[in-house]
Amino acid sequence: MREYARLYIDGAWRVPGGEGMAEVIDPATEQVIGRVPLGAEADVERAVMAARRAFDGWARTPSSVRAGYITALAAQLRNRAAEMASVITDELGMPVQWCQAVQVEGPIAGLEQYAGLAGLMDEVREVGNSLVYREAVGVCAFINPWNYPLHQMIGKLAPALAAGCTVVVKPSQETPLHAFMLAEMIEAIGLPAGVFNLVSGPGAKVGEALARHPQVDMVSFTGSTGAGVRVAQAAAPTVKRVCLELGGKSPLLITADADLHAAVRHGVQDVMINSGQTCTALTRMLLPASRYAEALEIAEAETRTLVMGDPRDPASFLGPMCSASQRRTVLDYIRLGQEEGARLLCGGDTPAGFERGFYVAPTLFADVDNRMRIAQEEIFGPVLCLIPYADEAQALALANDSPFGLSSAVWAGSREHGLALARQIRAGQCFINGGGFNYQAPFGGYKQSGNGREWGEEGLAEFVEVKAVQC
Ligand code: NAD
Repeated sequence: MREYARLYIDGAWRVPGGEGMAEVIDPATEQVIGRVPLGAEADVERAVMAARRAFDGWARTPSSVRAGYITALAAQLRNRAAEMASVITDELGMPVQWCQAVQVEGPIAGLEQYAGLAGLMDEVREVGNSLVYREAVGVCAFINPWNYPLHQMIGKLAPALAAGCTVVVKPSQETPLHAFMLAEMIEAIGLPAGVFNLVSGPGAKVGEALARHPQVDMVSFTGSTGAGVRVAQAAAPTVKRVCLELGGKSPLLITADADLHAAVRHGVQDVMINSGQTCTALTRMLLPASRYAEALEIAEAETRTLVMGDPRDPASFLGPMCSASQRRTVLDYIRLGQEEGARLLCGGDTPAGFERGFYVAPTLFADVDNRMRIAQEEIFGPVLCLIPYADEAQALALANDSPFGLSSAVWAGSREHGLALARQIRAGQCFINGGGFNYQAPFGGYKQSGNGREWGEEGLAEFVEVKAVQC
Protein backbone atom coordinates (compact mmCIF):
# COMPACT_ATOMS: atom_id res chain seq x y z
CA MET A 1 0.00 0.00 0.00
CA ARG A 2 1.38 3.42 -0.97
CA GLU A 3 -0.16 6.32 0.87
CA TYR A 4 0.80 9.92 0.16
CA ALA A 5 -0.94 12.32 2.53
CA ARG A 6 0.83 15.46 1.25
CA LEU A 7 1.28 17.35 -2.00
CA TYR A 8 4.66 18.44 -3.31
CA ILE A 9 4.50 22.24 -3.55
CA ASP A 10 7.24 24.87 -3.44
CA GLY A 11 9.99 22.35 -2.75
CA ALA A 12 8.38 20.56 0.21
CA TRP A 13 5.63 18.09 1.08
CA ARG A 14 2.64 20.21 2.19
CA VAL A 15 -0.58 19.39 3.98
CA PRO A 16 -3.30 19.69 1.31
CA GLY A 17 -5.99 22.34 1.54
CA GLY A 18 -8.59 19.92 0.18
CA GLU A 19 -10.38 17.37 2.24
CA GLY A 20 -10.18 13.65 1.83
CA MET A 21 -8.14 11.17 -0.10
CA ALA A 22 -8.68 9.37 -3.39
CA GLU A 23 -8.20 5.62 -3.51
CA VAL A 24 -6.07 3.99 -6.16
CA ILE A 25 -7.40 0.62 -7.31
CA ASP A 26 -5.35 -2.24 -8.76
CA PRO A 27 -7.39 -3.11 -11.87
CA ALA A 28 -6.22 -6.73 -11.80
CA THR A 29 -7.32 -7.45 -8.23
CA GLU A 30 -9.83 -4.62 -7.58
CA GLN A 31 -7.99 -4.02 -4.28
CA VAL A 32 -7.08 -0.58 -2.93
CA ILE A 33 -3.32 -0.20 -3.37
CA GLY A 34 -2.80 3.47 -2.61
CA ARG A 35 -4.23 6.77 -1.48
CA VAL A 36 -3.42 10.33 -2.56
CA PRO A 37 -4.90 13.69 -1.58
CA LEU A 38 -7.96 15.08 -3.28
CA GLY A 39 -6.47 18.48 -4.04
CA ALA A 40 -8.54 21.64 -3.96
CA GLU A 41 -8.44 25.08 -5.59
CA ALA A 42 -6.40 26.36 -2.64
CA ASP A 43 -3.68 23.84 -3.55
CA VAL A 44 -3.77 24.97 -7.17
CA GLU A 45 -3.36 28.56 -5.99
CA ARG A 46 -0.36 27.73 -3.79
CA ALA A 47 1.28 25.62 -6.47
CA VAL A 48 0.79 28.14 -9.27
CA MET A 49 2.11 31.00 -7.17
CA ALA A 50 5.15 28.92 -6.12
CA ALA A 51 5.82 28.20 -9.80
CA ARG A 52 5.40 31.91 -10.58
CA ARG A 53 7.93 32.95 -7.91
CA ALA A 54 10.43 30.34 -9.10
CA PHE A 55 10.10 31.21 -12.78
CA ASP A 56 12.47 34.16 -13.23
CA GLY A 57 15.37 32.47 -11.45
CA TRP A 58 14.89 29.14 -13.19
CA ALA A 59 14.52 30.71 -16.64
CA ARG A 60 17.79 32.60 -16.07
CA THR A 61 19.65 29.51 -14.83
CA PRO A 62 22.26 28.54 -17.46
CA SER A 63 20.95 25.90 -19.84
CA SER A 64 23.87 23.63 -18.93
CA VAL A 65 22.75 23.67 -15.28
CA ARG A 66 19.15 22.91 -16.26
CA ALA A 67 20.46 20.07 -18.42
CA GLY A 68 22.38 18.78 -15.40
CA TYR A 69 19.16 18.54 -13.35
CA ILE A 70 17.43 16.69 -16.19
CA THR A 71 20.32 14.24 -16.43
CA ALA A 72 20.20 13.74 -12.65
CA LEU A 73 16.47 13.01 -12.88
CA ALA A 74 17.15 10.42 -15.59
CA ALA A 75 19.71 8.79 -13.27
CA GLN A 76 17.18 8.73 -10.40
CA LEU A 77 14.65 7.10 -12.66
CA ARG A 78 17.19 4.53 -13.79
CA ASN A 79 18.01 3.70 -10.16
CA ARG A 80 14.35 3.17 -9.35
CA ALA A 81 13.32 1.75 -12.75
CA ALA A 82 12.10 -1.63 -11.52
CA GLU A 83 10.11 -0.04 -8.68
CA MET A 84 8.58 2.53 -11.05
CA ALA A 85 7.60 -0.16 -13.58
CA SER A 86 6.02 -2.19 -10.81
CA VAL A 87 4.05 0.81 -9.47
CA ILE A 88 2.69 1.61 -12.94
CA THR A 89 1.78 -2.06 -13.47
CA ASP A 90 -0.10 -1.99 -10.16
CA GLU A 91 -2.06 1.20 -10.85
CA LEU A 92 -2.61 0.78 -14.61
CA GLY A 93 -2.69 -2.97 -15.18
CA MET A 94 -0.21 -2.93 -18.07
CA PRO A 95 1.94 -6.07 -17.99
CA VAL A 96 5.26 -5.48 -16.36
CA GLN A 97 7.31 -6.45 -19.44
CA TRP A 98 5.75 -3.54 -21.36
CA CYS A 99 5.87 -1.17 -18.39
CA GLN A 100 9.61 -1.54 -18.08
CA ALA A 101 10.23 -0.85 -21.77
CA VAL A 102 7.55 1.69 -22.63
CA GLN A 103 6.71 3.42 -19.37
CA VAL A 104 10.23 3.64 -17.90
CA GLU A 105 13.01 3.10 -20.47
CA GLY A 106 11.27 5.42 -22.95
CA PRO A 107 10.96 8.27 -20.44
CA ILE A 108 14.64 7.86 -19.46
CA ALA A 109 15.57 8.22 -23.14
CA GLY A 110 13.25 11.23 -23.38
CA LEU A 111 14.92 12.94 -20.42
CA GLU A 112 18.37 12.33 -21.85
CA GLN A 113 17.29 13.74 -25.18
CA TYR A 114 16.11 17.03 -23.65
CA ALA A 115 19.24 17.35 -21.53
CA GLY A 116 20.97 17.46 -24.91
CA LEU A 117 18.52 19.97 -26.41
CA ALA A 118 18.54 22.53 -23.55
CA GLY A 119 21.43 24.36 -25.24
CA LEU A 120 19.14 25.25 -28.15
CA MET A 121 17.63 27.89 -25.86
CA ASP A 122 20.88 29.87 -26.15
CA GLU A 123 20.82 30.06 -29.93
CA VAL A 124 20.13 33.50 -31.36
CA ARG A 125 18.98 33.86 -34.97
CA GLU A 126 19.79 36.92 -37.06
CA VAL A 127 17.23 38.05 -39.66
CA GLY A 128 17.86 41.42 -41.30
CA ASN A 129 18.22 43.96 -38.52
CA SER A 130 16.70 41.60 -35.90
CA LEU A 131 18.05 39.24 -33.33
CA VAL A 132 15.56 36.50 -32.49
CA TYR A 133 15.86 35.06 -28.99
CA ARG A 134 14.21 31.99 -27.47
CA GLU A 135 12.73 32.43 -24.02
CA ALA A 136 10.75 30.13 -21.74
CA VAL A 137 6.97 30.47 -22.08
CA GLY A 138 6.50 30.71 -18.28
CA VAL A 139 4.44 28.80 -15.74
CA CYS A 140 3.02 25.64 -17.29
CA ALA A 141 0.20 23.37 -16.14
CA PHE A 142 0.23 19.72 -17.17
CA ILE A 143 -2.95 17.67 -17.13
CA ASN A 144 -2.24 14.02 -17.81
CA PRO A 145 -4.12 10.81 -18.67
CA TRP A 146 -3.69 7.36 -17.15
CA ASN A 147 -2.78 5.20 -20.12
CA TYR A 148 0.96 5.97 -20.50
CA PRO A 149 1.31 8.03 -17.34
CA LEU A 150 5.05 8.54 -16.97
CA HIS A 151 5.66 8.70 -20.71
CA GLN A 152 3.12 11.54 -21.00
CA MET A 153 4.52 13.29 -17.95
CA ILE A 154 8.12 13.22 -19.19
CA GLY A 155 7.04 14.26 -22.70
CA LYS A 156 6.00 17.55 -21.13
CA LEU A 157 8.30 17.89 -18.13
CA ALA A 158 11.63 17.27 -19.88
CA PRO A 159 11.24 19.95 -22.58
CA ALA A 160 9.65 22.38 -20.09
CA LEU A 161 12.63 22.11 -17.74
CA ALA A 162 15.03 22.36 -20.69
CA ALA A 163 13.31 25.55 -21.85
CA GLY A 164 13.37 27.12 -18.38
CA CYS A 165 9.67 26.79 -17.50
CA THR A 166 8.26 26.01 -14.08
CA VAL A 167 5.39 23.56 -13.80
CA VAL A 168 2.34 22.41 -11.91
CA VAL A 169 1.42 18.82 -12.66
CA LYS A 170 -1.94 17.12 -12.27
CA PRO A 171 -1.88 13.35 -12.85
CA SER A 172 -4.95 11.30 -13.64
CA GLN A 173 -6.95 10.09 -10.65
CA GLU A 174 -6.64 6.47 -11.83
CA THR A 175 -2.82 6.50 -11.90
CA PRO A 176 -1.36 9.14 -9.59
CA LEU A 177 1.22 7.03 -7.73
CA HIS A 178 3.99 7.30 -10.35
CA ALA A 179 3.72 11.11 -10.12
CA PHE A 180 4.32 11.05 -6.37
CA MET A 181 7.36 8.82 -6.94
CA LEU A 182 8.56 11.30 -9.53
CA ALA A 183 8.17 14.13 -7.00
CA GLU A 184 10.37 12.13 -4.59
CA MET A 185 13.02 11.97 -7.31
CA ILE A 186 12.68 15.71 -8.00
CA GLU A 187 13.24 16.31 -4.28
CA ALA A 188 16.24 13.97 -4.30
CA ILE A 189 17.99 15.87 -7.12
CA GLY A 190 17.46 19.18 -5.30
CA LEU A 191 15.55 20.95 -8.07
CA PRO A 192 15.00 24.54 -6.87
CA ALA A 193 11.79 25.06 -4.89
CA GLY A 194 8.73 25.87 -6.99
CA VAL A 195 10.10 24.60 -10.30
CA PHE A 196 8.06 21.37 -10.02
CA ASN A 197 4.76 21.22 -8.13
CA LEU A 198 2.32 18.33 -7.86
CA VAL A 199 -1.41 18.65 -7.18
CA SER A 200 -3.56 15.52 -7.47
CA GLY A 201 -7.33 15.60 -7.72
CA PRO A 202 -10.35 15.52 -10.00
CA GLY A 203 -10.07 16.95 -13.51
CA ALA A 204 -13.20 19.07 -13.37
CA LYS A 205 -11.91 20.79 -10.21
CA VAL A 206 -8.09 20.82 -10.15
CA GLY A 207 -7.64 20.56 -13.94
CA GLU A 208 -10.05 23.34 -14.77
CA ALA A 209 -8.68 25.57 -11.99
CA LEU A 210 -5.23 25.20 -13.55
CA ALA A 211 -6.52 25.90 -17.05
CA ARG A 212 -8.37 29.01 -15.85
CA HIS A 213 -5.61 30.44 -13.67
CA PRO A 214 -4.37 33.83 -14.94
CA GLN A 215 -0.84 33.14 -13.67
CA VAL A 216 -0.55 29.98 -15.78
CA ASP A 217 1.00 30.92 -19.13
CA MET A 218 0.53 27.61 -20.87
CA VAL A 219 -1.50 24.47 -20.37
CA SER A 220 -0.46 21.18 -21.91
CA PHE A 221 -3.27 18.67 -21.83
CA THR A 222 -3.26 15.01 -22.84
CA GLY A 223 -6.52 13.13 -22.67
CA SER A 224 -9.86 12.71 -24.36
CA THR A 225 -11.08 15.15 -26.98
CA GLY A 226 -14.11 16.12 -24.86
CA ALA A 227 -12.04 17.08 -21.81
CA GLY A 228 -9.52 18.82 -24.08
CA VAL A 229 -12.26 21.06 -25.44
CA ARG A 230 -13.30 21.97 -21.89
CA VAL A 231 -9.69 22.79 -20.99
CA ALA A 232 -9.40 25.03 -24.06
CA GLN A 233 -12.63 26.80 -23.12
CA ALA A 234 -11.47 27.35 -19.53
CA ALA A 235 -8.13 28.69 -20.77
CA ALA A 236 -9.53 30.99 -23.48
CA PRO A 237 -10.35 34.08 -21.36
CA THR A 238 -6.70 34.37 -20.29
CA VAL A 239 -5.37 33.79 -23.83
CA LYS A 240 -2.80 31.32 -22.60
CA ARG A 241 -1.13 28.86 -24.91
CA VAL A 242 -3.04 25.56 -25.00
CA CYS A 243 -1.43 22.40 -26.31
CA LEU A 244 -3.82 19.52 -26.77
CA GLU A 245 -2.82 15.89 -27.28
CA LEU A 246 -6.09 14.03 -27.76
CA GLY A 247 -7.66 10.82 -28.93
CA GLY A 248 -7.40 8.81 -32.13
CA LYS A 249 -8.95 6.18 -34.36
CA SER A 250 -5.95 5.35 -36.44
CA PRO A 251 -5.90 3.33 -39.67
CA LEU A 252 -3.48 0.62 -40.72
CA LEU A 253 -3.64 0.49 -44.51
CA ILE A 254 -2.40 -2.88 -45.78
CA THR A 255 -1.83 -2.98 -49.53
CA ALA A 256 -2.49 -5.91 -51.85
CA ASP A 257 1.26 -6.43 -52.42
CA ALA A 258 2.12 -6.44 -48.69
CA ASP A 259 3.41 -9.37 -46.66
CA LEU A 260 -0.06 -10.08 -45.27
CA HIS A 261 1.06 -12.30 -42.40
CA ALA A 262 3.56 -9.78 -41.05
CA ALA A 263 1.20 -6.84 -41.55
CA VAL A 264 -1.88 -8.37 -39.93
CA ARG A 265 0.04 -9.85 -37.01
CA HIS A 266 1.69 -6.49 -36.38
CA GLY A 267 -1.69 -4.75 -36.57
CA VAL A 268 -3.31 -7.10 -34.06
CA GLN A 269 -0.45 -6.74 -31.58
CA ASP A 270 -0.37 -2.96 -31.97
CA VAL A 271 -4.01 -2.69 -30.90
CA MET A 272 -3.84 -5.21 -28.08
CA ILE A 273 -0.79 -3.75 -26.30
CA ASN A 274 -1.97 -2.04 -23.10
CA SER A 275 -5.37 -3.65 -23.74
CA GLY A 276 -6.09 -1.17 -26.51
CA GLN A 277 -5.66 1.81 -24.20
CA THR A 278 -3.20 3.52 -26.53
CA CYS A 279 -3.97 6.84 -28.21
CA THR A 280 -2.15 5.77 -31.39
CA ALA A 281 -3.67 2.26 -31.53
CA LEU A 282 -4.24 1.20 -35.14
CA THR A 283 -7.86 0.28 -34.49
CA ARG A 284 -9.05 0.35 -38.11
CA MET A 285 -7.34 -2.25 -40.27
CA LEU A 286 -7.99 -1.49 -43.95
CA LEU A 287 -7.64 -4.65 -46.05
CA PRO A 288 -7.79 -5.30 -49.81
CA ALA A 289 -11.07 -7.09 -50.54
CA SER A 290 -9.13 -9.61 -52.66
CA ARG A 291 -7.25 -10.80 -49.54
CA TYR A 292 -9.88 -10.07 -46.90
CA ALA A 293 -10.82 -13.68 -46.03
CA GLU A 294 -7.17 -14.65 -45.70
CA ALA A 295 -6.49 -11.61 -43.48
CA LEU A 296 -9.39 -12.47 -41.17
CA GLU A 297 -7.94 -15.94 -40.62
CA ILE A 298 -4.51 -14.54 -39.78
CA ALA A 299 -5.98 -11.92 -37.45
CA GLU A 300 -8.10 -14.42 -35.58
CA ALA A 301 -5.23 -16.90 -35.23
CA GLU A 302 -2.91 -14.17 -33.95
CA THR A 303 -5.48 -12.86 -31.49
CA ARG A 304 -6.01 -16.31 -30.03
CA THR A 305 -2.27 -16.63 -29.30
CA LEU A 306 -2.17 -13.48 -27.14
CA VAL A 307 -1.96 -14.30 -23.45
CA MET A 308 -4.28 -12.26 -21.27
CA GLY A 309 -3.51 -12.52 -17.58
CA ASP A 310 -2.10 -11.10 -14.39
CA PRO A 311 -0.04 -8.07 -15.38
CA ARG A 312 2.63 -9.10 -12.88
CA ASP A 313 3.17 -12.35 -14.78
CA PRO A 314 5.93 -11.82 -17.37
CA ALA A 315 4.08 -14.18 -19.72
CA SER A 316 1.06 -11.85 -20.00
CA PHE A 317 0.74 -9.87 -23.21
CA LEU A 318 -2.29 -7.94 -22.04
CA GLY A 319 -3.86 -7.30 -18.67
CA PRO A 320 -7.14 -5.76 -17.52
CA MET A 321 -8.69 -2.43 -18.48
CA CYS A 322 -7.54 0.38 -16.21
CA SER A 323 -10.86 0.80 -14.42
CA ALA A 324 -14.33 -0.63 -14.02
CA SER A 325 -15.79 2.31 -15.91
CA GLN A 326 -13.39 1.78 -18.83
CA ARG A 327 -14.42 -1.88 -18.99
CA ARG A 328 -18.07 -0.81 -19.04
CA THR A 329 -17.41 1.64 -21.87
CA VAL A 330 -15.61 -1.01 -23.93
CA LEU A 331 -18.28 -3.67 -23.38
CA ASP A 332 -20.96 -1.12 -24.36
CA TYR A 333 -19.11 -0.43 -27.61
CA ILE A 334 -18.84 -4.16 -28.31
CA ARG A 335 -22.59 -4.50 -27.89
CA LEU A 336 -23.07 -1.46 -30.14
CA GLY A 337 -20.86 -3.00 -32.83
CA GLN A 338 -23.05 -6.10 -32.89
CA GLU A 339 -26.19 -3.95 -33.08
CA GLU A 340 -24.66 -2.01 -35.96
CA GLY A 341 -24.22 -5.26 -37.89
CA ALA A 342 -20.48 -5.90 -37.54
CA ARG A 343 -19.51 -9.56 -37.25
CA LEU A 344 -17.81 -10.60 -34.01
CA LEU A 345 -14.90 -12.88 -34.92
CA CYS A 346 -13.58 -13.44 -31.41
CA GLY A 347 -13.62 -11.99 -27.91
CA GLY A 348 -16.50 -9.70 -27.05
CA ASP A 349 -16.75 -10.24 -23.32
CA THR A 350 -14.94 -11.07 -20.11
CA PRO A 351 -13.77 -14.67 -20.49
CA ALA A 352 -14.25 -17.35 -17.85
CA GLY A 353 -11.61 -17.32 -15.14
CA PHE A 354 -11.38 -13.52 -15.09
CA GLU A 355 -14.25 -12.70 -12.75
CA ARG A 356 -11.96 -10.56 -10.60
CA GLY A 357 -10.25 -7.64 -12.34
CA PHE A 358 -11.49 -5.44 -15.17
CA TYR A 359 -10.66 -7.79 -18.05
CA VAL A 360 -12.06 -7.68 -21.60
CA ALA A 361 -10.98 -10.35 -24.09
CA PRO A 362 -9.18 -9.20 -27.25
CA THR A 363 -11.99 -8.60 -29.72
CA LEU A 364 -12.13 -8.59 -33.51
CA PHE A 365 -14.97 -7.22 -35.62
CA ALA A 366 -15.19 -8.21 -39.31
CA ASP A 367 -17.38 -6.67 -42.03
CA VAL A 368 -17.14 -3.25 -40.43
CA ASP A 369 -18.43 -0.27 -42.40
CA ASN A 370 -16.24 2.76 -41.73
CA ARG A 371 -19.36 4.85 -41.07
CA MET A 372 -20.32 2.68 -38.07
CA ARG A 373 -19.79 4.29 -34.68
CA ILE A 374 -17.33 1.54 -33.71
CA ALA A 375 -15.16 2.72 -36.62
CA GLN A 376 -15.59 6.45 -36.00
CA GLU A 377 -15.34 6.72 -32.20
CA GLU A 378 -12.40 5.97 -29.96
CA ILE A 379 -13.28 2.85 -27.95
CA PHE A 380 -10.01 2.71 -25.99
CA GLY A 381 -10.10 -1.02 -25.49
CA PRO A 382 -8.85 -4.23 -27.13
CA VAL A 383 -11.19 -3.94 -30.11
CA LEU A 384 -10.01 -4.07 -33.72
CA CYS A 385 -12.22 -3.26 -36.74
CA LEU A 386 -11.34 -5.09 -39.96
CA ILE A 387 -12.56 -3.07 -42.95
CA PRO A 388 -12.37 -4.19 -46.60
CA TYR A 389 -11.56 -1.83 -49.47
CA ALA A 390 -11.78 -2.17 -53.24
CA ASP A 391 -8.76 -0.15 -54.38
CA GLU A 392 -6.11 2.16 -52.92
CA ALA A 393 -8.08 5.31 -53.70
CA GLN A 394 -10.91 3.98 -51.57
CA ALA A 395 -8.46 2.83 -48.89
CA LEU A 396 -7.06 6.37 -48.60
CA ALA A 397 -10.57 7.82 -48.49
CA LEU A 398 -11.46 5.44 -45.65
CA ALA A 399 -8.19 6.18 -43.82
CA ASN A 400 -9.01 9.89 -43.90
CA ASP A 401 -12.72 9.50 -43.16
CA SER A 402 -12.30 10.14 -39.43
CA PRO A 403 -12.62 13.11 -37.10
CA PHE A 404 -9.20 12.12 -35.75
CA GLY A 405 -5.72 12.33 -37.22
CA LEU A 406 -3.28 11.23 -34.55
CA SER A 407 -1.50 8.28 -36.09
CA SER A 408 -1.61 5.93 -39.06
CA ALA A 409 0.36 3.11 -40.60
CA VAL A 410 0.91 1.60 -44.00
CA TRP A 411 2.14 -1.89 -44.74
CA ALA A 412 3.11 -2.11 -48.39
CA GLY A 413 5.25 -4.20 -50.71
CA SER A 414 8.00 -1.57 -50.71
CA ARG A 415 9.13 1.43 -48.71
CA GLU A 416 8.48 3.71 -51.71
CA HIS A 417 4.92 2.44 -52.12
CA GLY A 418 4.39 2.97 -48.38
CA LEU A 419 5.82 6.48 -48.48
CA ALA A 420 3.59 7.48 -51.40
CA LEU A 421 0.52 6.44 -49.40
CA ALA A 422 1.79 7.92 -46.10
CA ARG A 423 1.95 11.39 -47.67
CA GLN A 424 -1.76 11.19 -48.49
CA ILE A 425 -2.96 10.35 -44.97
CA ARG A 426 -4.01 13.28 -42.77
CA ALA A 427 -2.33 12.29 -39.50
CA GLY A 428 0.61 13.46 -37.43
CA GLN A 429 2.37 10.11 -37.54
CA CYS A 430 2.68 7.33 -40.08
CA PHE A 431 4.53 4.07 -39.46
CA ILE A 432 5.60 2.18 -42.57
CA ASN A 433 6.12 -1.59 -42.52
CA GLY A 434 6.49 -1.64 -38.74
CA GLY A 435 8.77 1.39 -38.31
CA GLY A 436 9.37 2.07 -34.60
CA PHE A 437 8.47 5.01 -32.35
CA ASN A 438 11.15 7.71 -32.45
CA TYR A 439 11.63 10.01 -29.45
CA GLN A 440 13.56 12.47 -31.63
CA ALA A 441 10.62 12.97 -33.99
CA PRO A 442 7.62 15.23 -33.33
CA PHE A 443 4.48 13.50 -32.06
CA GLY A 444 0.99 14.97 -32.19
CA GLY A 445 -2.31 15.05 -33.99
CA TYR A 446 -4.13 16.56 -36.95
CA LYS A 447 -7.84 17.39 -36.82
CA GLN A 448 -9.58 16.58 -33.52
CA SER A 449 -6.54 14.66 -32.25
CA GLY A 450 -4.97 17.87 -31.07
CA ASN A 451 -2.92 20.90 -31.93
CA GLY A 452 0.43 20.33 -30.22
CA ARG A 453 3.62 18.42 -30.75
CA GLU A 454 5.65 16.53 -28.18
CA TRP A 455 9.18 15.06 -28.36
CA GLY A 456 12.07 16.20 -30.49
CA GLU A 457 12.84 19.84 -31.21
CA GLU A 458 9.18 20.56 -31.94
CA GLY A 459 8.38 19.37 -28.41
CA LEU A 460 10.79 21.96 -27.02
CA ALA A 461 9.21 24.67 -29.19
CA GLU A 462 5.90 24.21 -27.32
CA PHE A 463 7.58 25.73 -24.27
CA VAL A 464 9.34 28.59 -26.07
CA GLU A 465 8.41 32.20 -26.71
CA VAL A 466 10.39 34.00 -29.40
CA LYS A 467 11.46 37.60 -29.00
CA ALA A 468 12.58 39.77 -31.93
CA VAL A 469 14.95 42.59 -31.02
CA GLN A 470 15.55 45.15 -33.76
CA CYS A 471 18.90 46.91 -33.73
P1 NAD B 1 -9.57 12.15 -19.77
O1 NAD B 1 -9.83 13.21 -20.77
O2 NAD B 1 -10.71 11.53 -19.07
O3 NAD B 1 -8.60 12.71 -18.63
C1 NAD B 1 -7.34 13.23 -18.91
C2 NAD B 1 -6.96 14.18 -17.79
O4 NAD B 1 -7.82 15.30 -17.84
C3 NAD B 1 -7.11 13.60 -16.38
O5 NAD B 1 -6.07 14.07 -15.57
C4 NAD B 1 -8.45 14.16 -15.94
O6 NAD B 1 -8.55 14.26 -14.53
C5 NAD B 1 -8.42 15.52 -16.58
N1 NAD B 1 -9.72 16.13 -16.83
C6 NAD B 1 -10.90 15.51 -17.07
N2 NAD B 1 -11.87 16.43 -17.25
C7 NAD B 1 -11.28 17.65 -17.14
C8 NAD B 1 -11.76 19.00 -17.22
N3 NAD B 1 -13.04 19.26 -17.46
N4 NAD B 1 -10.86 20.00 -17.06
C9 NAD B 1 -9.57 19.73 -16.83
N5 NAD B 1 -9.06 18.49 -16.72
C10 NAD B 1 -9.92 17.46 -16.87
O7 NAD B 1 -8.69 11.06 -20.53
P2 NAD B 1 -8.17 9.68 -19.96
O8 NAD B 1 -9.32 8.73 -19.93
O9 NAD B 1 -7.37 9.89 -18.74
O10 NAD B 1 -7.13 9.26 -21.10
C11 NAD B 1 -7.51 8.63 -22.26
C12 NAD B 1 -7.58 9.62 -23.42
O11 NAD B 1 -6.32 10.25 -23.58
C13 NAD B 1 -7.85 8.93 -24.73
O12 NAD B 1 -8.75 9.71 -25.47
C14 NAD B 1 -6.48 8.91 -25.41
O13 NAD B 1 -6.53 8.82 -26.81
C15 NAD B 1 -5.92 10.20 -24.94
N6 NAD B 1 -4.45 10.21 -25.05
C16 NAD B 1 -3.86 10.98 -26.00
C17 NAD B 1 -2.49 10.98 -26.15
C18 NAD B 1 -1.80 11.83 -27.18
O14 NAD B 1 -0.59 12.04 -27.06
N7 NAD B 1 -2.50 12.36 -28.16
C19 NAD B 1 -1.71 10.20 -25.30
C20 NAD B 1 -2.34 9.42 -24.33
C21 NAD B 1 -3.72 9.45 -24.21
